Amino acid sequence: MDTAADRRRNMVELQLRRRGVVDAQVLHAMGDVPREQFVPESARPSAYDDAPLGIGQGQTISQPYIVARMIEAARLTPAARVLEIGTGSGYAAAIMARIAAHVDTVERHGALANAAARRLAGLGLSNVDVHIADGTLGWPDGAPYDAIIAAAGGPRIPDNWIAQLAPGGTLVMPLGALHSRQTLVRVVREANGRLTRDDLGEVMFVPLIGEHGWEDPRAPNMSPAARAFADAALPLPDIDDPDFAEWVDRFADCKVVLLGESSHGTSEFYRARARATQRLIERHGFSIVAVEADWPDAAAIDRYVRQRPGLGGSQSVQSVDSSTEAFAPFSRFPTWMWRNTEVAAFVQWLHGYNAQRPALAHAGFFGLDLYSMKASMASVLAYLDKVDPAAAAEARQRYACLDPWRQRPSVYGRAVLSGAYSACEDAVIAQLQSLRAQRIDYGSHGFEDYFDAAQNARLVASAEQYYRLMYYGAAASWNLRDTHMFDVLTRLLDAHGQQARAVVWAHNSHIGNAAATAMGTDRDELNIGQLCRQRFGAHAALIGQDTYTGTVAAASDWDGPMEIKRVLPARTDSYAFIACEAGVPRAFVDLRANVASASAALRAALMTPHQERFIGVIYRPDTERVSHYARAVLPEQFDAWIWFEETTALTPLPAATENAGGMPETWPFGL
Ligand code: SAH
Repeated sequence: MDTAADRRRNMVELQLRRRGVVDAQVLHAMGDVPREQFVPESARPSAYDDAPLGIGQGQTISQPYIVARMIEAARLTPAARVLEIGTGSGYAAAIMARIAAHVDTVERHGALANAAARRLAGLGLSNVDVHIADGTLGWPDGAPYDAIIAAAGGPRIPDNWIAQLAPGGTLVMPLGALHSRQTLVRVVREANGRLTRDDLGEVMFVPLIGEHGWEDPRAPNMSPAARAFADAALPLPDIDDPDFAEWVDRFADCKVVLLGESSHGTSEFYRARARATQRLIERHGFSIVAVEADWPDAAAIDRYVRQRPGLGGSQSVQSVDSSTEAFAPFSRFPTWMWRNTEVAAFVQWLHGYNAQRPALAHAGFFGLDLYSMKASMASVLAYLDKVDPAAAAEARQRYACLDPWRQRPSVYGRAVLSGAYSACEDAVIAQLQSLRAQRIDYGSHGFEDYFDAAQNARLVASAEQYYRLMYYGAAASWNLRDTHMFDVLTRLLDAHGQQARAVVWAHNSHIGNAAATAMGTDRDELNIGQLCRQRFGAHAALIGQDTYTGTVAAASDWDGPMEIKRVLPARTDSYAFIACEAGVPRAFVDLRANVASASAALRAALMTPHQERFIGVIYRPDTERVSHYARAVLPEQFDAWIWFEETTALTPLPAATENAGGMPETWPFGL
C-alpha cells in the first residue's frame, strides 16, 4: 500500500509538475507538507485526490493544483511577508510558511481558525499567525505585505488590501459573481504606485463574506452580535466526548482557573466543569480543586479522595458542650448543590485517579465557604482534644460565647446589635491566634491536620464577623465572604508550594469579575474573580457558563424543598439571547483581548452592556426580572464563556437527614 509520502510524491508529479507548475520552492513545499493532517479523519484516504475537500462549517480545502498555482503566481521570496485571507484548514498557509519569512492568515470562522492554528503549531511552523477576523479588512497590524492571497471569491478587490500591499507587492484573488465561476486575478502594485492586473484563468472558490465582500447568507435579520458569536464560537461536542474540554488547554499555564455557572442546579454546568477539571489535573498538573462549599464538608471528600484518615477514624466529632454529634457533610440547605450524582461521579473519578499515584502527586478537594461555624468549632475542638487537651479546654470556653447561636448563627448578629450580648469577636480571634502560635509544635503531629484545624478556626472567626455584618448591609457581608474565600484559596496555593495551581468551582457571581457587573458598579461588591484578577493578572482564567432555557434544580424559598423548575427563555436584552440567536447549541468562546485565539470582533460586539441571568439555589420565574437579572459587560467579566442553549436539572442524591437515624453520614463513601 502507498504511504502518505508516496501519494504526496505522485501528487507533485502528476497534478502539479505535469500541469505546468515550475516554481521549485512551491513543488518542494508541497512535496513536504502532510496534507492528510489538514483534512477531517474521514477524508484522509482522499487527502491527495485531485479535488477540493470539505473541512466542516461548509468550507473546503482547495484542490492541490489550485493551491500551487496561486502561490506560484504570488512569486514568494524567502524574505516575503505574506497575508492570506481564508485560512480554512491551514494547508495553504503551511505551504507558504515553508517558503516565505512570515505569514499572517485570517479566518472568519473561530472553529476553523483554532483547528488550523493547532495543526500549524503541531508541524512546528512558528512563522505563521492565525487571526480570527473579517479578512476583507486585511490585517493592518502586519502591513505592508509583499503578497496577499485570498482563498475566497469576492465581488471586487477590497481597498484595504491594496493599501496594505507593499510597493512591488502581489495580490492574488478570485473575482466574480456569487455562486458562479470566478476569474483568478493577479494585481501587482508597481514601485510607482501603479496597479497592473492579469487574469490567470477560471476558478471556483467559496464566497468571501464580510464588510467588503458578500453579505452573510445566514438569516438576514440576525443581529451583528449574534453573527459575530456564530463566527467566533467553537462548537462543542457532547460533554461525554473525550475532546469536550479541549478548550481548557489554552488556560493550562494559569495559576488559577475559575469555572463558573449561572445556576447551582444545572447538570451540564457541573459536568462540563468536571471534564475541564479532570483535564487540568491529568494533563496540566493542577492539584487543588476549591469549591463554593464549607471547609469541613469538603474536607470529608478530601479525606476520601486522598485516602487520609479522619479525626479519630470516624465522622463523629465532639461539640462544644462535649456531647458527641454525628457530623453529616453537606446536610445543610441547599443539600443538592453538592449532594448530586454529577459531583459524586467527579469525586469517584478523583478517588481513582489519586489511588494510582503517590501521595505527593494527589489532587485534593477543598471548601472555600464559611457557613459551617458549628461544624468548624467542633472540628477545632476535636483536633485539640487529640493534640493538646489543655488547649482544648481553653478553646471550649472561648467558643462557648457563640454557643447560644450554634444552631441558628444568623440570629447572632441581631442579638449583638440589640446590645443584649457582647460580641464574641475577641474570643474567636484569640482562638485563631493561639492555634497559629502553636504552628510548629502542632504541625509536627502532621501538617495536613494542623492546616485543617487552622482553616476551621479561621472560618469561625470569619463567620462570627459575617453574621454581625449581615445586619449592616448585604455588600459588607458579601465582600467579607468573598474575601474569606479568596483568602482560603491563596492559603491553599501557598500550602501546596510554588508550583501549585488551582481550579475553582463557584457561581458566576463569585467568578466573573464583579467590577464589570452591576455588583461592582452599583453595589460596591467585589468577588473571588476580581481578587484573582488583581492578584494573578492574566494567570487567572475567569470562565463563565450560561444557558438559554431548560430545567433547573432550585427551591422557591430559603430552606424550602428542592424542585425541578422550568427555566424561562432568556430575556431579549441578555447575552444569552445573542448566543441563542447565533444558533450554536453548545459552544466555547474566548473573550480575551489581544489573544490570537480570540476574536476581536466578537469581543467588540459584546462590549455593549447586556443583562445576565443569575440563578442561585432559589429560582423565582415570576419575579425573574428583578430577582435574577443584572447588567454586565461580558468580555470584561469573563475571559471565556461556555454556552449551552438548553440545559437540564442536576440529579440530587438522598439528603443526609433521610439516612438511618444516628448513623454517621456515609456520602460519598457509601456510593
Ligand atoms: N486556504 C484554505 C482554503 C480556504 S477555503 C486551505 O488551504 O484549506 C476559504 C476560507 O475563507 C473559508 O474557510 C472561509 O470561512 C474563509 N472566509 C470567507 N470569507 C472570509 C473573510 N471575510 N475573512 C476571513 N476568512 C473568510
